[in-house]
Amino acid sequence: MFYTNRRSLSNIPTAPDTCGMRFKAVLVVILIVAGAWALEAHARSGTQRTLSGVASQLAQRPVHIRCQSFWANLLSINGHAGEVRFDANGTPADSAWLTRGTCGHLHAFISSHGADLECLKAENWSTFVWNAPWDDCITKTEPVVQAVIVLAHESMHLRGIGSESDAQCGAERLATQTVELLGGDPATGPLVEKLARAWNPFMPTEYQAPDCPQS
Ligand SMILES: [Zn+2]
Repeated sequence: MFYTNRRSLSNIPTAPDTCGMRFKAVLVVILIVAGAWALEAHARSGTQRTLSGVASQLAQRPVHIRCQSFWANLLSINGHAGEVRFDANGTPADSAWLTRGTCGHLHAFISSHGADLECLKAENWSTFVWNAPWDDCITKTEPVVQAVIVLAHESMHLRGIGSESDAQCGAERLATQTVELLGGDPATGPLVEKLARAWNPFMPTEYQAPDCPQS
């Protein structure tokens, strides 16, 4: 007679299925990473589209902005905030590359219509010098202003300007237009230019433009 006591069989301890558990854990990690990658890529493509439109206006031709990905940023040792490649004939590429940090500040600017720059209107510019201790407003706005100027600077390269000092001068003079194109308050544009001009003498020599005419 074949007889089984089902209750007693079910009480027999079985070895845990560690292989299956490991597979499930790996699958969950893969799904989380894939989901994070898809979300990040989607958000990045929207920012790139908007920034490409702004850069095309500033460069006076259709160009593209490529934002550094989260993953590339993790591995990056590049010290530049942005970059445009030129060929041997001095012709610029059709796209500029911006760091993840620069794109992040520009994304926040677009989302908030440049609200962080509002405090610049109350800044005491008569006593402001770049190498003196900053107040909270400058601390908050400096990376935002830098991102706006970097976008304008790379757009000047895309326009065909190879010289760093000429590109920086063009960026300073187009600060207000850049702020407007990004959806910010035009009244903050001259203050962005003022801040960019204040830090210019402290930039590497090839970026300095002491004779850059006022906009
Ligand atoms: Zn440059």
